[in-house]
Amino acid sequence: MRYKGSFIINYKLRALTGLRVGGSREEFDIGGTDNPVMKLPVEMPDYFGENKPLPKGAPYIPGSSIKGKMRSLLEWVYGRVEAMYQKNSSEIEKAGKPCDCGECEVCKVFGTGDAKTFERLEQEGKEQPGPARAKFFDAYPTEDTLNRLQNALGQGIFTEIKTENQINRITSRANPRKVERVPAGSEFEGSVIFDCYKESDNELIGVIFNGMKKLEDSFLGGYGSRGSGRVQFKDIEVIWRPADYYKGNGNEEKVVDKAKSVDEILSRLGEIKKKCS
Ligand SMILES: [Zn+2]
Repeated sequence: MRYKGSFIINYKLRALTGLRVGGSREEFDIGGTDNPVMKLPVEMPDYFGENKPLPKGAPYIPGSSIKGKMRSLLEWVYGRVEAMYQKNSSEIEKAGKPCDCGECEVCKVFGTGDAKTFERLEQEGKEQPGPARAKFFDAYPTEDTLNRLQNALGQGIFTEIKTENQINRITSRANPRKVERVPAGSEFEGSVIFDCYKESDNELIGVIFNGMKKLEDSFLGGYGSRGSGRVQFKDIEVIWRPADYYKGNGNEEKVVDKAKSVDEILSRLGEIKKKCS
């Protein structure tokens, strides 16, 4: 393994329906909802430049939520759930855990699910997966989104409270609960950094974009089967920074400038892969 460089993938994520990526009740005001969304605990000064902060209370999407959801979807797509089930069918708890084979695309990109994998592969004389190639960072709302929400909802308010009812089948009595969501139309900015450690890693970069595509046909956060969490990626930018860039004698290169959709990125995957060859 020899480090070749990194792809910086910047994107916007648009909520097509209300989005509920959960925090915990302890962080939320007394008298609030049972299902609060993740919010910034303190403001981030000068985030937008010109002394404009990302305000306290702004909703955000943790990188762990995007990574976890994308990984679980890809494990279904690549047949890894089935493989884990076959390996651990006597222990159902273990069978449903993230893939720990250390050999598949998902384990190489997202990291192997079990520390013992490295030992096992060594004993079996197999190749080690190497470090997890992708890092998923927290995604924060755009300035436009914050302005749009506050103009409609009031200063410092960024979420809607939606009431959902469960109806008793016999008495027809409603059992309401309140769900906090980021309103539809909100946009977040996030990034993924993908490190290339060898030439064959060029076959792994596409896994990220396949994951984005599958996420668009699933949901992010909670209550997806009840309408929340449909998302769409847009303005996807791919920058390549070769190892020399970090030694001070190489330049970065913008490989894709603001692709409109994941499909557009996938149609240019050949160009992207070449960088890590
Ligand atoms: Zn695996």
